Amino acid sequence: MPSTITNNAPVTNQIDPVDHYIAGRWQSSPDRFATTNPLDDSVVAHIAAGGPDEARAAVDAAAQAFPAWASMLPVERQRLFLHAADLVEARTEQIVRILAVEAGTSTAFAKFQIAWSANLLRQAAGWGYLPYGDLLPSDTPGRFAMAMRKPLGVVAGFTPWNGAFNLAWRTIVLPLAFGNTVLIKPSEEAPISAGLLHAQILHDAGFPAGVVNVVTHAPGQAAPLADVFFESPAVRCINFTGSATTARMLAAKAGAALKPIVLELGGYNPLVILDDADLDQAVDATVFGAFFHQGQICMNTRKVYIDAQLHDEYLVRLAAKTDALVRGNPLDPEVIIGPLINDRAVTQMETRIQDAVDKGARVISGNQRDQRVFAPTVLADVPPTAVATIGQEETFGPLLVVEAVDSVEQAVSRAQAVPYGLSAAIVTGDEERGLDLARRFDAGIVHVNSSTMAGEPALPNGGVKDSGWGRSGHYAIEDFTEIRLVTTTHG
Ligand code: NAD
Repeated sequence: MPSTITNNAPVTNQIDPVDHYIAGRWQSSPDRFATTNPLDDSVVAHIAAGGPDEARAAVDAAAQAFPAWASMLPVERQRLFLHAADLVEARTEQIVRILAVEAGTSTAFAKFQIAWSANLLRQAAGWGYLPYGDLLPSDTPGRFAMAMRKPLGVVAGFTPWNGAFNLAWRTIVLPLAFGNTVLIKPSEEAPISAGLLHAQILHDAGFPAGVVNVVTHAPGQAAPLADVFFESPAVRCINFTGSATTARMLAAKAGAALKPIVLELGGYNPLVILDDADLDQAVDATVFGAFFHQGQICMNTRKVYIDAQLHDEYLVRLAAKTDALVRGNPLDPEVIIGPLINDRAVTQMETRIQDAVDKGARVISGNQRDQRVFAPTVLADVPPTAVATIGQEETFGPLLVVEAVDSVEQAVSRAQAVPYGLSAAIVTGDEERGLDLARRFDAGIVHVNSSTMAGEPALPNGGVKDSGWGRSGHYAIEDFTEIRLVTTTHG
C-alpha cells in the first residue's frame, strides 16, 4: 500500500492508509490533497482525492458483497467484530498520534474514543442474533404468516471530523452488525481518523472484501461524490453525522431519491443546576461537559441554567477549574485543550464573543488565544439582544454561557426555546426531582447527575427537532433493518 506521509517527523508508520479502500484493496487516485495539523499547519498526509468514479466503484463493491455478508452465520460475524475490537486496542499509540495531528484531539479524548470504539465493537459482535421475527395470526385458513427482519442492503455513511474515530465506528458498525454492507465518505478535515484507519483495522481483522469501503475526497468536493450515493439504486439508506446545515441539503436529496436517511446532528445542550445541587459536582459536570475536545463535540454543554442563589459562588469555582485546564499541543498527555480545527472555527468564536461583550455580557474566564488554541471561555449576564446567536446557536468551540434563573420552570422553558434537542443534563441533590424534570425536556437524551456528554456506545444516543433522528446502540435495528412479511398457506 503506498504511503505518502510527508511530515518531517514520521507521524505514521508503514501501515497508515492514505488511499481509498474499495473491494478489499487500497486504490489510488490521480489527484491527492494535503491534510494539515491544526496546531501548526504542518502537512500530515497526502490523501487520495476521489470523485464519482471511485464512489461508483465503492457502491458496486458493497452491492456485490451484500448477499454473502447478509447470510454469513452470526457466530462468524461475531468473531470478526471481536478481532477488530482487539486490533483497535492494540493500535492505541498510532491512533492517539493520528487523532492529535489530524484533528487536534487530546490524548485523554483519543483514549476515550478508543475505549468507546472497542466497547461498541464488542457489543455489536452479538447483534447478529437480534434480528428475530414474529409468527402472526392470520384470517386465511391454513396460513402461517411470518414477520422477518432483513438487512436493507448498501448503507452509505458520511462521517464528521470531530469525534472522528469513534463516530466513524458508529457509522460503520451499526449497519454492518445487522447484515448490511457499508461505504463511507470521511470528512476531508480528518480522513485518516474518520474512516481510513477503520478500513485498515477491518481489513486486518479479516472482514470480507467489499463489506466496508471508504472513499476520500478533496475539500469542498463532497457533493459530486455524494450524489452518486443518492442516484445509485443499490444504496438503500443514507447514514449522516454532521451539521444541521449539511443535513438539510442531504435530506432534500434523500427525499427526491426516496431513500431513508438517518441524521445525527448538532445540539445546543443545556445543563440545569437546581437549588439543592452539590456545587463541586455541578462544576465538574460543567467543565467536562463544556470543554472536552475544546467544545467541538455535538453533546458538549452550551448553556448552564443555575438557581440564582448559587450563581455567584458557582462562577467563582467554575472560573478556577476552567483556568486550570492545560492548553497547547495535544501530543502532550497533560494537555486537555488543543487547537480548534481551522480558522473558520476561531473566527466564529471571536465574532460571537465580541458581539455578546459589545452588548454587555461579562467575561468570567478565557477569551484569549494562542494561534488556534482558544482558552475555555465562560460568559455571564448575556443580554437578551445577544441571545439570538450566542444563546441559541451551536458555537463549535470552548464557549459556555451561564444564566441565573429564579425557578425550575424558567430554566425548562428557556432551555426548550431552541431549535435543537440532543442532550440535556440536570444536577440535583434529589434524584426523584431530577427524574421528574427529565420527562419535561424535549431532548433525545437527558442525564441526571452527570454531564450532557455522558453517552455510552451501547445506549441509544440521538436527537429530536433540529438534532436529527435515529438512535444508536442496538436500537439502530429500527433504522438498519426492514420487516418482510412471508406467508405460507396449506392447500
Ligand atoms: P459537516 O456537516 O460540515 O460535515 C459532515 C459530513 O458531511 C462530512 O463528511 C462532510 O464532508 C460532508 N459534507 C459537507 N458538505 C457536504 C455537501 N455539500 N454534500 C455532501 N456532503 C457534505 O459537519 P462537521 O463540521 O464535519 O461536523 C460538526 C457538526 O456535526 C456539528 O454540528 C456537530 O454537532 C455535528 N455532530 C453531531 C453528532 C451526533 O452524534 N449527533 C456527532 C458529531 C458531530
